Amino acid sequence: MAKKDPSELSVEERLKTLYQLQTALSSIDEKRMLRGELPLEVQDLEDEIEGLTTRVEKITGEIADYQRAIAQKKGEIADAQASVERYKAQLDEVKNNREYDTLSKEIEFQTLEIELCNKKIREANNKIADKEQEKANSEALIAERQGDLEVKKNELEEIMEETRVEEEKLKEQVKTLEAKIEGRLLTSFKRIRKNARNGLGIVYVQRDACGGCFNKIPPQRQLDIKMHKKIIVCEYCGRIMIDPELAGVKIDKATGATEEKKGRAKRTIRKSSNSKKTTDASDME
Ligand SMILES: [Zn+2]
Repeated sequence: MAKKDPSELSVEERLKTLYQLQTALSSIDEKRMLRGELPLEVQDLEDEIEGLTTRVEKITGEIADYQRAIAQKKGEIADAQASVERYKAQLDEVKNNREYDTLSKEIEFQTLEIELCNKKIREANNKIADKEQEKANSEALIAERQGDLEVKKNELEEIMEETRVEEEKLKEQVKTLEAKIEGRLLTSFKRIRKNARNGLGIVYVQRDACGGCFNKIPPQRQLDIKMHKKIIVCEYCGRIMIDPELAGVKIDKATGATEEKKGRAKRTIRKSSNSKKTTDASDME
């Protein structure tokens, strides 16, 4: 089949193509909604764990520094104690008072040195205890966050697995349909869609009203829409209007309500399977 130039499409064909595009885009939107904030939450948790891991590494390094300092002070104490022992031995052999005084001063000095070293060791040990506590807290937090991450990742993976193939197909479909639509029309459709809260750029007439903003459409305008000769937009919300019949939507003759071929039901099932987690909430219902 040869590719048609988009400008050769009739208004009817353009509307139909736009509606098909809208259906595909809405399906993609729905799948993204299911994923919701999950991708962001996973990213946040990963970032937090990375930050905490860096903090633990830093604390471990600090503890090692204190331990090295303690080992050094212990070495200094051993040296000072050896000196004290030596001086004490020499005291037994002093010849005069001057020598005695000198040795006594040395012993006093070395003893003070030992006391100072012991004080430094006590301080370092206190610091190590604080750091160990800080490290344990961070590690506990990491474990907790990792648990959360595991849960969120599985949840996301489950949803992705369910929808991946379908979503790829839809994206292909979107590409094909977009290529069929004339550039200017596609641009304005995309703009309408972007500004619309429900992501609908084209809607069908529903109970004499716009299917997007639910404002009543005057009868003459409804007739124009039914003719498929012109592209007509809703005068309130600016959405492109399509005759339900052309959109392939069934209308309930009795109520005038339209019924989409697919969609709603599926979503309800999905929601109820999700609510399994919040057991108490569903118990209350
Ligand atoms: Zn409207």
